[in-house]
Amino acid sequence: MTAIQNVKTRFAPSPTGLLHLGNVRTALFNALLAQRWGGRFLLRIEDTDQERGRPEYVAALLEDLRWLGLDWREGPEIGGPHQPYLQSERATIYARYYQRLEAGERVYPCFCTPAELALSRKTQLAAGRPPRYTGTCARLSEADRQARLDRGLQPTLRFRVPVGQMIEFEDMVRGPQRFASDDIGDFVIRRADGTPQFFFANAADDALMEVTHVLRGEDHLTNTPRQLLLLEALELPAPRYGHLALIVGADGGPLSKRLGDLSVRELRTGGYLPEALLNYLARLGHAYERDKWMEWNGLATGFTPDHLGRAPARFDEAQLLHWQTEAIQHAPWEQLWAWMGGRCVGASARPAEGGFCRRDPA
Ligand code: GLU
Repeated sequence: MTAIQNVKTRFAPSPTGLLHLGNVRTALFNALLAQRWGGRFLLRIEDTDQERGRPEYVAALLEDLRWLGLDWREGPEIGGPHQPYLQSERATIYARYYQRLEAGERVYPCFCTPAELALSRKTQLAAGRPPRYTGTCARLSEADRQARLDRGLQPTLRFRVPVGQMIEFEDMVRGPQRFASDDIGDFVIRRADGTPQFFFANAADDALMEVTHVLRGEDHLTNTPRQLLLLEALELPAPRYGHLALIVGADGGPLSKRLGDLSVRELRTGGYLPEALLNYLARLGHAYERDKWMEWNGLATGFTPDHLGRAPARFDEAQLLHWQTEAIQHAPWEQLWAWMGGRCVGASARPAEGGFCRRDPA
């Protein structure tokens, strides 16, 4: 595969918990893709959900990514041309783009209460229809809107989905995709408390931060047509998307609570070396031609989106242990020494990128 110009990939976690196997694999694939194509890997923290996001998880996330050697070239702590990289600090940037949508009448304020929306959803489900916003507030007159605003009601902002359109895109993993806009109800892009909704902030930031390729979990596949519509309305470029198959247990069933909940933190304190995780996760849903142990550069050179599987990836603890054995066999003695609980002799106690002990200059 030839190099592609100005590639930028990203990892955009929401800090709602510790980094676990599923999302660290997403981070890894994006980092490998950037390196493979001579591009940049960006880190953005999607912390707009104030109820769920917790600052201590941001710090843990950064530390875990660094421990794994997944170093970002743009993002928190190091900055870059598109800072800030925490969505909670980007409100003034988003305001400009809400205005653009308002000026083009692509959005409207919605005063429906959560209770009204829940009732409407229930009624539609009971009638055997997929629940979607019925458009109540899309039809309000200007006077009605003003009257509600005068009463002090705090509306959400909804995107007006165009009628009768087909949204098509070529998924890097799953091939051609088609969605009918008529199956998508008008959706919220700004919450009543003024914070941006995921669809909006995620799509706008990818464009504003010049992200060209997005690999993310397939649970986001149905969000993509919404985000493409939004980007079109915002007159912003869309990245290429690829949706990764989920990770399942060795028996093909859902990942058990025990394994699914495994955080990088737990694996690290359990003694796994970062290189073991990298070698294992890079092969979880992605096939390499070479099945041997590889350093970072080898993992990146052999990485290709064409080799990402569409079938769910089976998590196999025995395989992880196999790569742990390999990691131990390939580890330099300083790393092994640190791993066994000793200190790095003649080197800094802090493992450098990739977990190796770094020698202080003499
Ligand atoms: N913050 C989203 C998540 O953690 C990002 C989704 C995406 O990668 O676009 O699921």
